[in-house]
Amino acid sequence: MVAVSFEFFPPTTPSGRQRLAGCAAELARFDPAFLSVTYGAGGTSRERTVGAIAELTSTLDVPVAGHLTTINASKDDIHRVIDRYVELGVGHIVALRGDPPEDATPPTDVGYETAAELVTAIRSRPDGDRFDLSVAAYPEVHPKAASGQSDLDNLKRKVDAGADRAITQFFFDPDVFLRFQDRAVAAGVDVPIVPGIMPVANFGGVARFAGRCGATIPEWLSALLADLDDDPEVQQPVAAIVAAEQCRRLVEGGVDRFHFYTMNRRQLPAATCRALGLRARPSVATTELAP
Ligand SMILES: Cc1cc2nc3c(=O)[nH]c(=O)nc-3n(C[C@H](O)[C@H](O)[C@H](O)COP(=O)(O)OP(=O)(O)OC[C@H]3O[C@@H](n4cnc5c(N)ncnc54)[C@H](O)[C@@H]3O)c2cc1C
Repeated sequence: MVAVSFEFFPPTTPSGRQRLAGCAAELARFDPAFLSVTYGAGGTSRERTVGAIAELTSTLDVPVAGHLTTINASKDDIHRVIDRYVELGVGHIVALRGDPPEDATPPTDVGYETAAELVTAIRSRPDGDRFDLSVAAYPEVHPKAASGQSDLDNLKRKVDAGADRAITQFFFDPDVFLRFQDRAVAAGVDVPIVPGIMPVANFGGVARFAGRCGATIPEWLSALLADLDDDPEVQQPVAAIVAAEQCRRLVEGGVDRFHFYTMNRRQLPAATCRALGLRARPSVATTELAP
């Protein structure tokens, strides 16, 4: 049986808050290894991320992970957020560098410059051993990396610093992931590498995002989905088939865990989980959201 996890972004509006609550409650029925909430680089979403995590931990009985980016943050800022995660019972951190905003002036108070430094800092805390730490990996190479090898060396640094697993940027060709996994293992990366799966709820949006983060959009994917964004009734089942087929081929390649980028929508991740053979339990919500 495969294991899954689901990633959400912190909502900005009351309706977004309700949508996240509903979506997370539905996906929690698949007994995920964890739900995670992203964190805006430079602390731009700090309160919203912590707020969303507080709501998930108080309403659902599944583990929650908090993302944390180190760019443009002081060491004190970073440890204050970690302390808040600990207060909320969150012991799993997705430790990241984050991206500087395009128009940013250079920070005056630089705490930890890379994700590897952040992992080292978390492990060096008096409570450092209790954390479950995930880091990012890039099957198609981070767009700013000097080379594929230096990117792999960086992943190895993060693992050597104490990361428990790597979660990848999204990709669409299963062979890209499987080849990357082979290279990482050969380079001495000895923790699980979990493929990040992006079900394509909106092709235009995913294509723009892919351009920024270095993910390739294969021609076959464009041919299947590029002209369907205005026709959700057809788009959704095609996108579900695409994600299910991607996961099926990864399972054939030996993969047994998946991390879904949900974009706070449940339909495609839920359909893909069903296609993977997972069954949803009746209900896991324990508490209503406070008004
Ligand atoms: C699973 C996942 C979750 C994410 N969640 C978030 C989120 O919540 N919020 C957010 O803002 N972003 C998020 N991101 C995006 C991420 O922050 C960006 O991709 C960012 O540019 C890199 O972060 P990192 O943690 O991989 O950085 P790092 O691992 O520090 O590396 C970034 C780049 O710098 C290079 N590098 C690092 N150290 C060195 C060195 N010593 N010498 C030379 N090169 C070096 C690396 O090779 C790589 O190219 C996520 C990405 C993934 C895959």
